Formats: sequence, structure tokens, C-alpha cells
Amino acid sequence: MALTFLRNGAAYGILIAMALSGELTAARFVLYFSAVGGFTNWVVGIFSGLGTLHQQSLDLSALREFLDIPESFRFGDGKPLPVKPDHLYQLELRDVSFRYPGAEQDTLSHVNLTIHPGEKLAVVGKNGAGKTTLIRLLCGLYDPTKGQVLLDGEDIRQYDRRDYYAHFSAVFQQFSLLAGTMAENVAQSEKADLPRMWDCLERAGLADQIRALPWQENTHLGRDVYLDGIDLSGGQVQRLMLARALYKNAPIVMLDEPTAALDPLAESDLYQKYNDLTGACTSVYISHRLASTRFCDRVLLIENGGIAEEGSHEELLAQGGHYARLFDIQSKYYREEETEHE
Ligand code: ADP
Repeated sequence: MALTFLRNGAAYGILIAMALSGELTAARFVLYFSAVGGFTNWVVGIFSGLGTLHQQSLDLSALREFLDIPESFRFGDGKPLPVKPDHLYQLELRDVSFRYPGAEQDTLSHVNLTIHPGEKLAVVGKNGAGKTTLIRLLCGLYDPTKGQVLLDGEDIRQYDRRDYYAHFSAVFQQFSLLAGTMAENVAQSEKADLPRMWDCLERAGLADQIRALPWQENTHLGRDVYLDGIDLSGGQVQRLMLARALYKNAPIVMLDEPTAALDPLAESDLYQKYNDLTGACTSVYISHRLASTRFCDRVLLIENGGIAEEGSHEELLAQGGHYARLFDIQSKYYREEETEHE
């Protein structure tokens, strides 16, 4: 910018000096004056075009690199999954280890786990213990570094991944609200089956609030995109996620702490509600609040890359191990919080 100013200043200075000394006629002065400006713009345009081209070629090579990564899952050419009307599937991790690319050690190491058909399993442990990683391996979002994930005894790598994903109603910590209508958000598709959608909203306890809106199920979500859009409260979003999971009606339910923003009692209620509404589905519930998952058939405590303790809530308390100590500390903390609020 300063350089352009200097260069143009010098050129204009010479032109003015020449015009004053009578070397240039007025007409030529105007012609040269505008030519200097035009030439500068032309050169600046070329340089900025070259800059954009360089940036875009960098972006393109990053995309090429991404497209060259070999696809480890089968899409379209895998075996179809067996359809079981009773929804009772068994999931298994067989000697599974998982290491994130570039990490120095395994997040999970030699984990063996069978989740029985219809079982309600709780996965608990400190932040960073590997709970989310475990659930993502089960859902087929990650491929184990070593070992196998099996569905009813068959390695899931042979199945069509989309078909496999369709078997899970999973709610993660980072869930996404789509910029669309309430109905599209529940159905996750442009065409919602309306009676089914209302039934799910009803069971999730959100129907009355949506009926009270002027556009009901056609209400747009997200003010960033729609002028007439609405924003939902944290609790309403949780209920919408529950309605979405119910609408999908998949045989396996996974809940990865989508409730971290709720207080412990509200989280505990919501987990209980998922459990009541999803019935006999094989389910995995993650929480770092041990009271939320005590209703489960079995609890796994994840620590140091593996399953440190395992059993029902009562069995683990009786064992007097780490789970029992953590439960004691958390209940004391929540009791103190309750008395402070009284
Ligand atoms: P939890 O759900 O128990 O809090 P996570 O499964 O999210 O634990 O994470 C386990 C460990 O793996 C943590 O140390 C975390 O930093 C690491 N980790 C998680 N996601 C990634 C990632 N995408 N890349 C590298 N490391 C990760």
C-alpha cells in the first residue's frame, strides 16, 4: 500500500512538473494521469489474483490428500445386516485396542466386552478415561487399531456401514440441531411421518410446547438462518434429542452424556426416561455422574485404558473399590450442594 502510494506519487509528481514546464499539453497530462492509475490497478489485480490462486491450490491439495485416504469401511458393497424384529442384538469387543493417529499410547488397550441382547450397560470413569472412544468403536465410527467389533458374533467390517449406523440411536455430547423445521429435526429427513413424529414428541414431553407455537411442527429452528426461527432452551433441546432417538427407533441405544449442561437430578431423570421409553433395546449409557446410571444391569468403570471394575451398582459398592469410593465422594458433594440450596 505504502509502495503503491510512493510509486504513484512519484509518477504524478513528474507529470505535474512536466505539465508546469510546458512539456505536456493539458490533454496529454489528463491521458497520462489516468493511464498511471489504470496501470497500477492492473498490476495490483494480477498480484492479488496470484495470491488467491496460491491459496486455492493449497486448499485443493489438502482436499486431494483427504480424498486419497483409503476407505477402511464398506459403503454400498458390504453385506446387509440381519434384520431382527425383536431388536435383540449382541455386541462384542474382542481384544480391542485403539490409538488415535499421532498419539503415543493406546487410549484403550486389549478390551474384551460382551454386551448381551437387551442389556443396559453403564460406562463410567473420569474425564479422558476413554468412555467416548469405547462408544464410538461400538457404533462403528472408529475402526479398532487391533482386535474386532462383533455384532451377533460377526465382524462388523463385512457389513455395509450405513446399514450398521442405521441400527443405532446414538446421542453424543456434541449433537447438532439442523437449520430446518422442528419436524425435519425430529425425523432427520425432509419428509417426516407426522403421526409418528407427534407420538415421539408426546413421549419426550415436548408436544404441548410445540403445539403452542404459531407454526407448530413447521416452526423453523435457528435464528442465524431464519428470520422467523426460534431458539430452544437447553432442556427443550434435550427433549428434542430424545424425540429424535425415539423416532429413529433403532434397536441399539447409545447415550454419551448429552446431559452435561443439566444438573445431576435432571440428568438422572432424563436417563431414567430414555430407559423407560426405549424398552428392551440393548443400551449403553455413559456418565461421569455415577448416580445417573445406577439403574443399569451392569456398570463398567474405565480406567488406564481398560475395564478396571465391573458389576451391578450394588455389587460394586459392596466390593469397596474405586467405584465405591467415587460414589461416596459424589454423593457427599451432591448432598452438600442440596443443603446449600435449602
Ligand atoms: P472420556 O469420554 O472418558 O472423557 P475420551 O474417549 O473422549 O474420554 O478420550 C480418551 C482419551 O483420548 C483422552 O486422553 C483424549 O484426550 C484422547 N482423545 C480423544 N479424542 C481424540 C482425538 N480425536 N485425537 C486424539 N486424541 C483424542
